[in-house]
Amino acid sequence: MHKRLFTPGPTEVRPEILKELATPQIYHRAPEFSDLYAEIQPKLRKVLYTKNPVLLFTASSTGAMESAVTNCVAKRCLNLVNGAFSKRWHEIAVGNGVPCDAFEIEWNKAIRPEMVDAQLSTGKYDAVTLVLNETSTGLANPLPEIAQVVRRYPDVFFLVDAVSGMAGVKIETDAWGIDFVLAGVQKAFALPAGLTVAAVSERALVRSEKVPPRSYYFSLPLMYKSHQKNQTPATPAIPQMFALNAQLTDMLAEGMDARFARHERMAKIVQTWAKKHFDIYPEEGYWSKTVTCIKNTRNLSISDLVKTLAKDYNFRISNGYGAIKEKTFRIAHMGDAQVDEIEGVLKAIETVLKL
Ligand SMILES: *Cc1c(COP(=O)(O)O)cnc(C)c1O
Repeated sequence: MHKRLFTPGPTEVRPEILKELATPQIYHRAPEFSDLYAEIQPKLRKVLYTKNPVLLFTASSTGAMESAVTNCVAKRCLNLVNGAFSKRWHEIAVGNGVPCDAFEIEWNKAIRPEMVDAQLSTGKYDAVTLVLNETSTGLANPLPEIAQVVRRYPDVFFLVDAVSGMAGVKIETDAWGIDFVLAGVQKAFALPAGLTVAAVSERALVRSEKVPPRSYYFSLPLMYKSHQKNQTPATPAIPQMFALNAQLTDMLAEGMDARFARHERMAKIVQTWAKKHFDIYPEEGYWSKTVTCIKNTRNLSISDLVKTLAKDYNFRISNGYGAIKEKTFRIAHMGDAQVDEIEGVLKAIETVLKL
């Protein structure tokens, strides 16, 4: 029996979209492929609020994170860290020999614009990485406010991991001056894993021509060269592209504002419920609109709760991440999940725990 996913990636994929994966395959050097690629572009640019090219990575989000830091840093990169994924971005930079420093704060606290200002004012950096929505802790950093600070430093490129936010919350890529914004499609896009999209600014593409090549598969100059022909340098995940194309059409038919509003409604419901029965892990004012990380204030066995929900209700929620595995649990409310489904999960938890 299928367990319906309320995990913060992968998320539940609708059967209509799954069917798209079975579309007969096309040759990636044939015109029909370029047509598919070209059809996807304007839709993605709408969802990402950008005029920039949106590159398709046949990789999970981690691959695009690697592309960002290997291609867009000429001098030194500042990695803002307040969770597992922002820490991973620092490790990716270190692992690829990209000069970088981590600025780490407590994981239940948001990165504040003043902190970013203080770091950038040292003049050491020409790029900064930020995770919009820390999926490990359910914390949303104040992206527009931080973007405002970064824009005051014209040489500093702004690289944003929007993995569990994009397509669930509005990200004004161009208005906020984001140079590289990426998201794997298995989160709020509600698609099967295997593809990551990233909008890349013109100046980031220009810089990527100049930095010493640190990567081949994730080389922005190579990807952009193919992009101009509506192609990819290597064979892409063609099945996922069929699914992406169909899902983007459905998303735009729903309306992005309606989609964001639905996410906000679901978030409110889960947050109110969590405050009533438990507590919420990150500090108030910075709760994610796509995933809630709930504090285990009742000293429950989280693994038992997760197992029972899967066995008796066919609902899959998630335990905490890393060090807070048993101290928290996470309910994702993103993608194509609907309000009544989220309410159903909360009801099931109430029944299991006799709340
Ligand atoms: C899931 C996630 C990642 C990593 O994604 P993969 O697709 O597993 O590489 C990175 N950042 C954030 C914020 C995430 O939620």
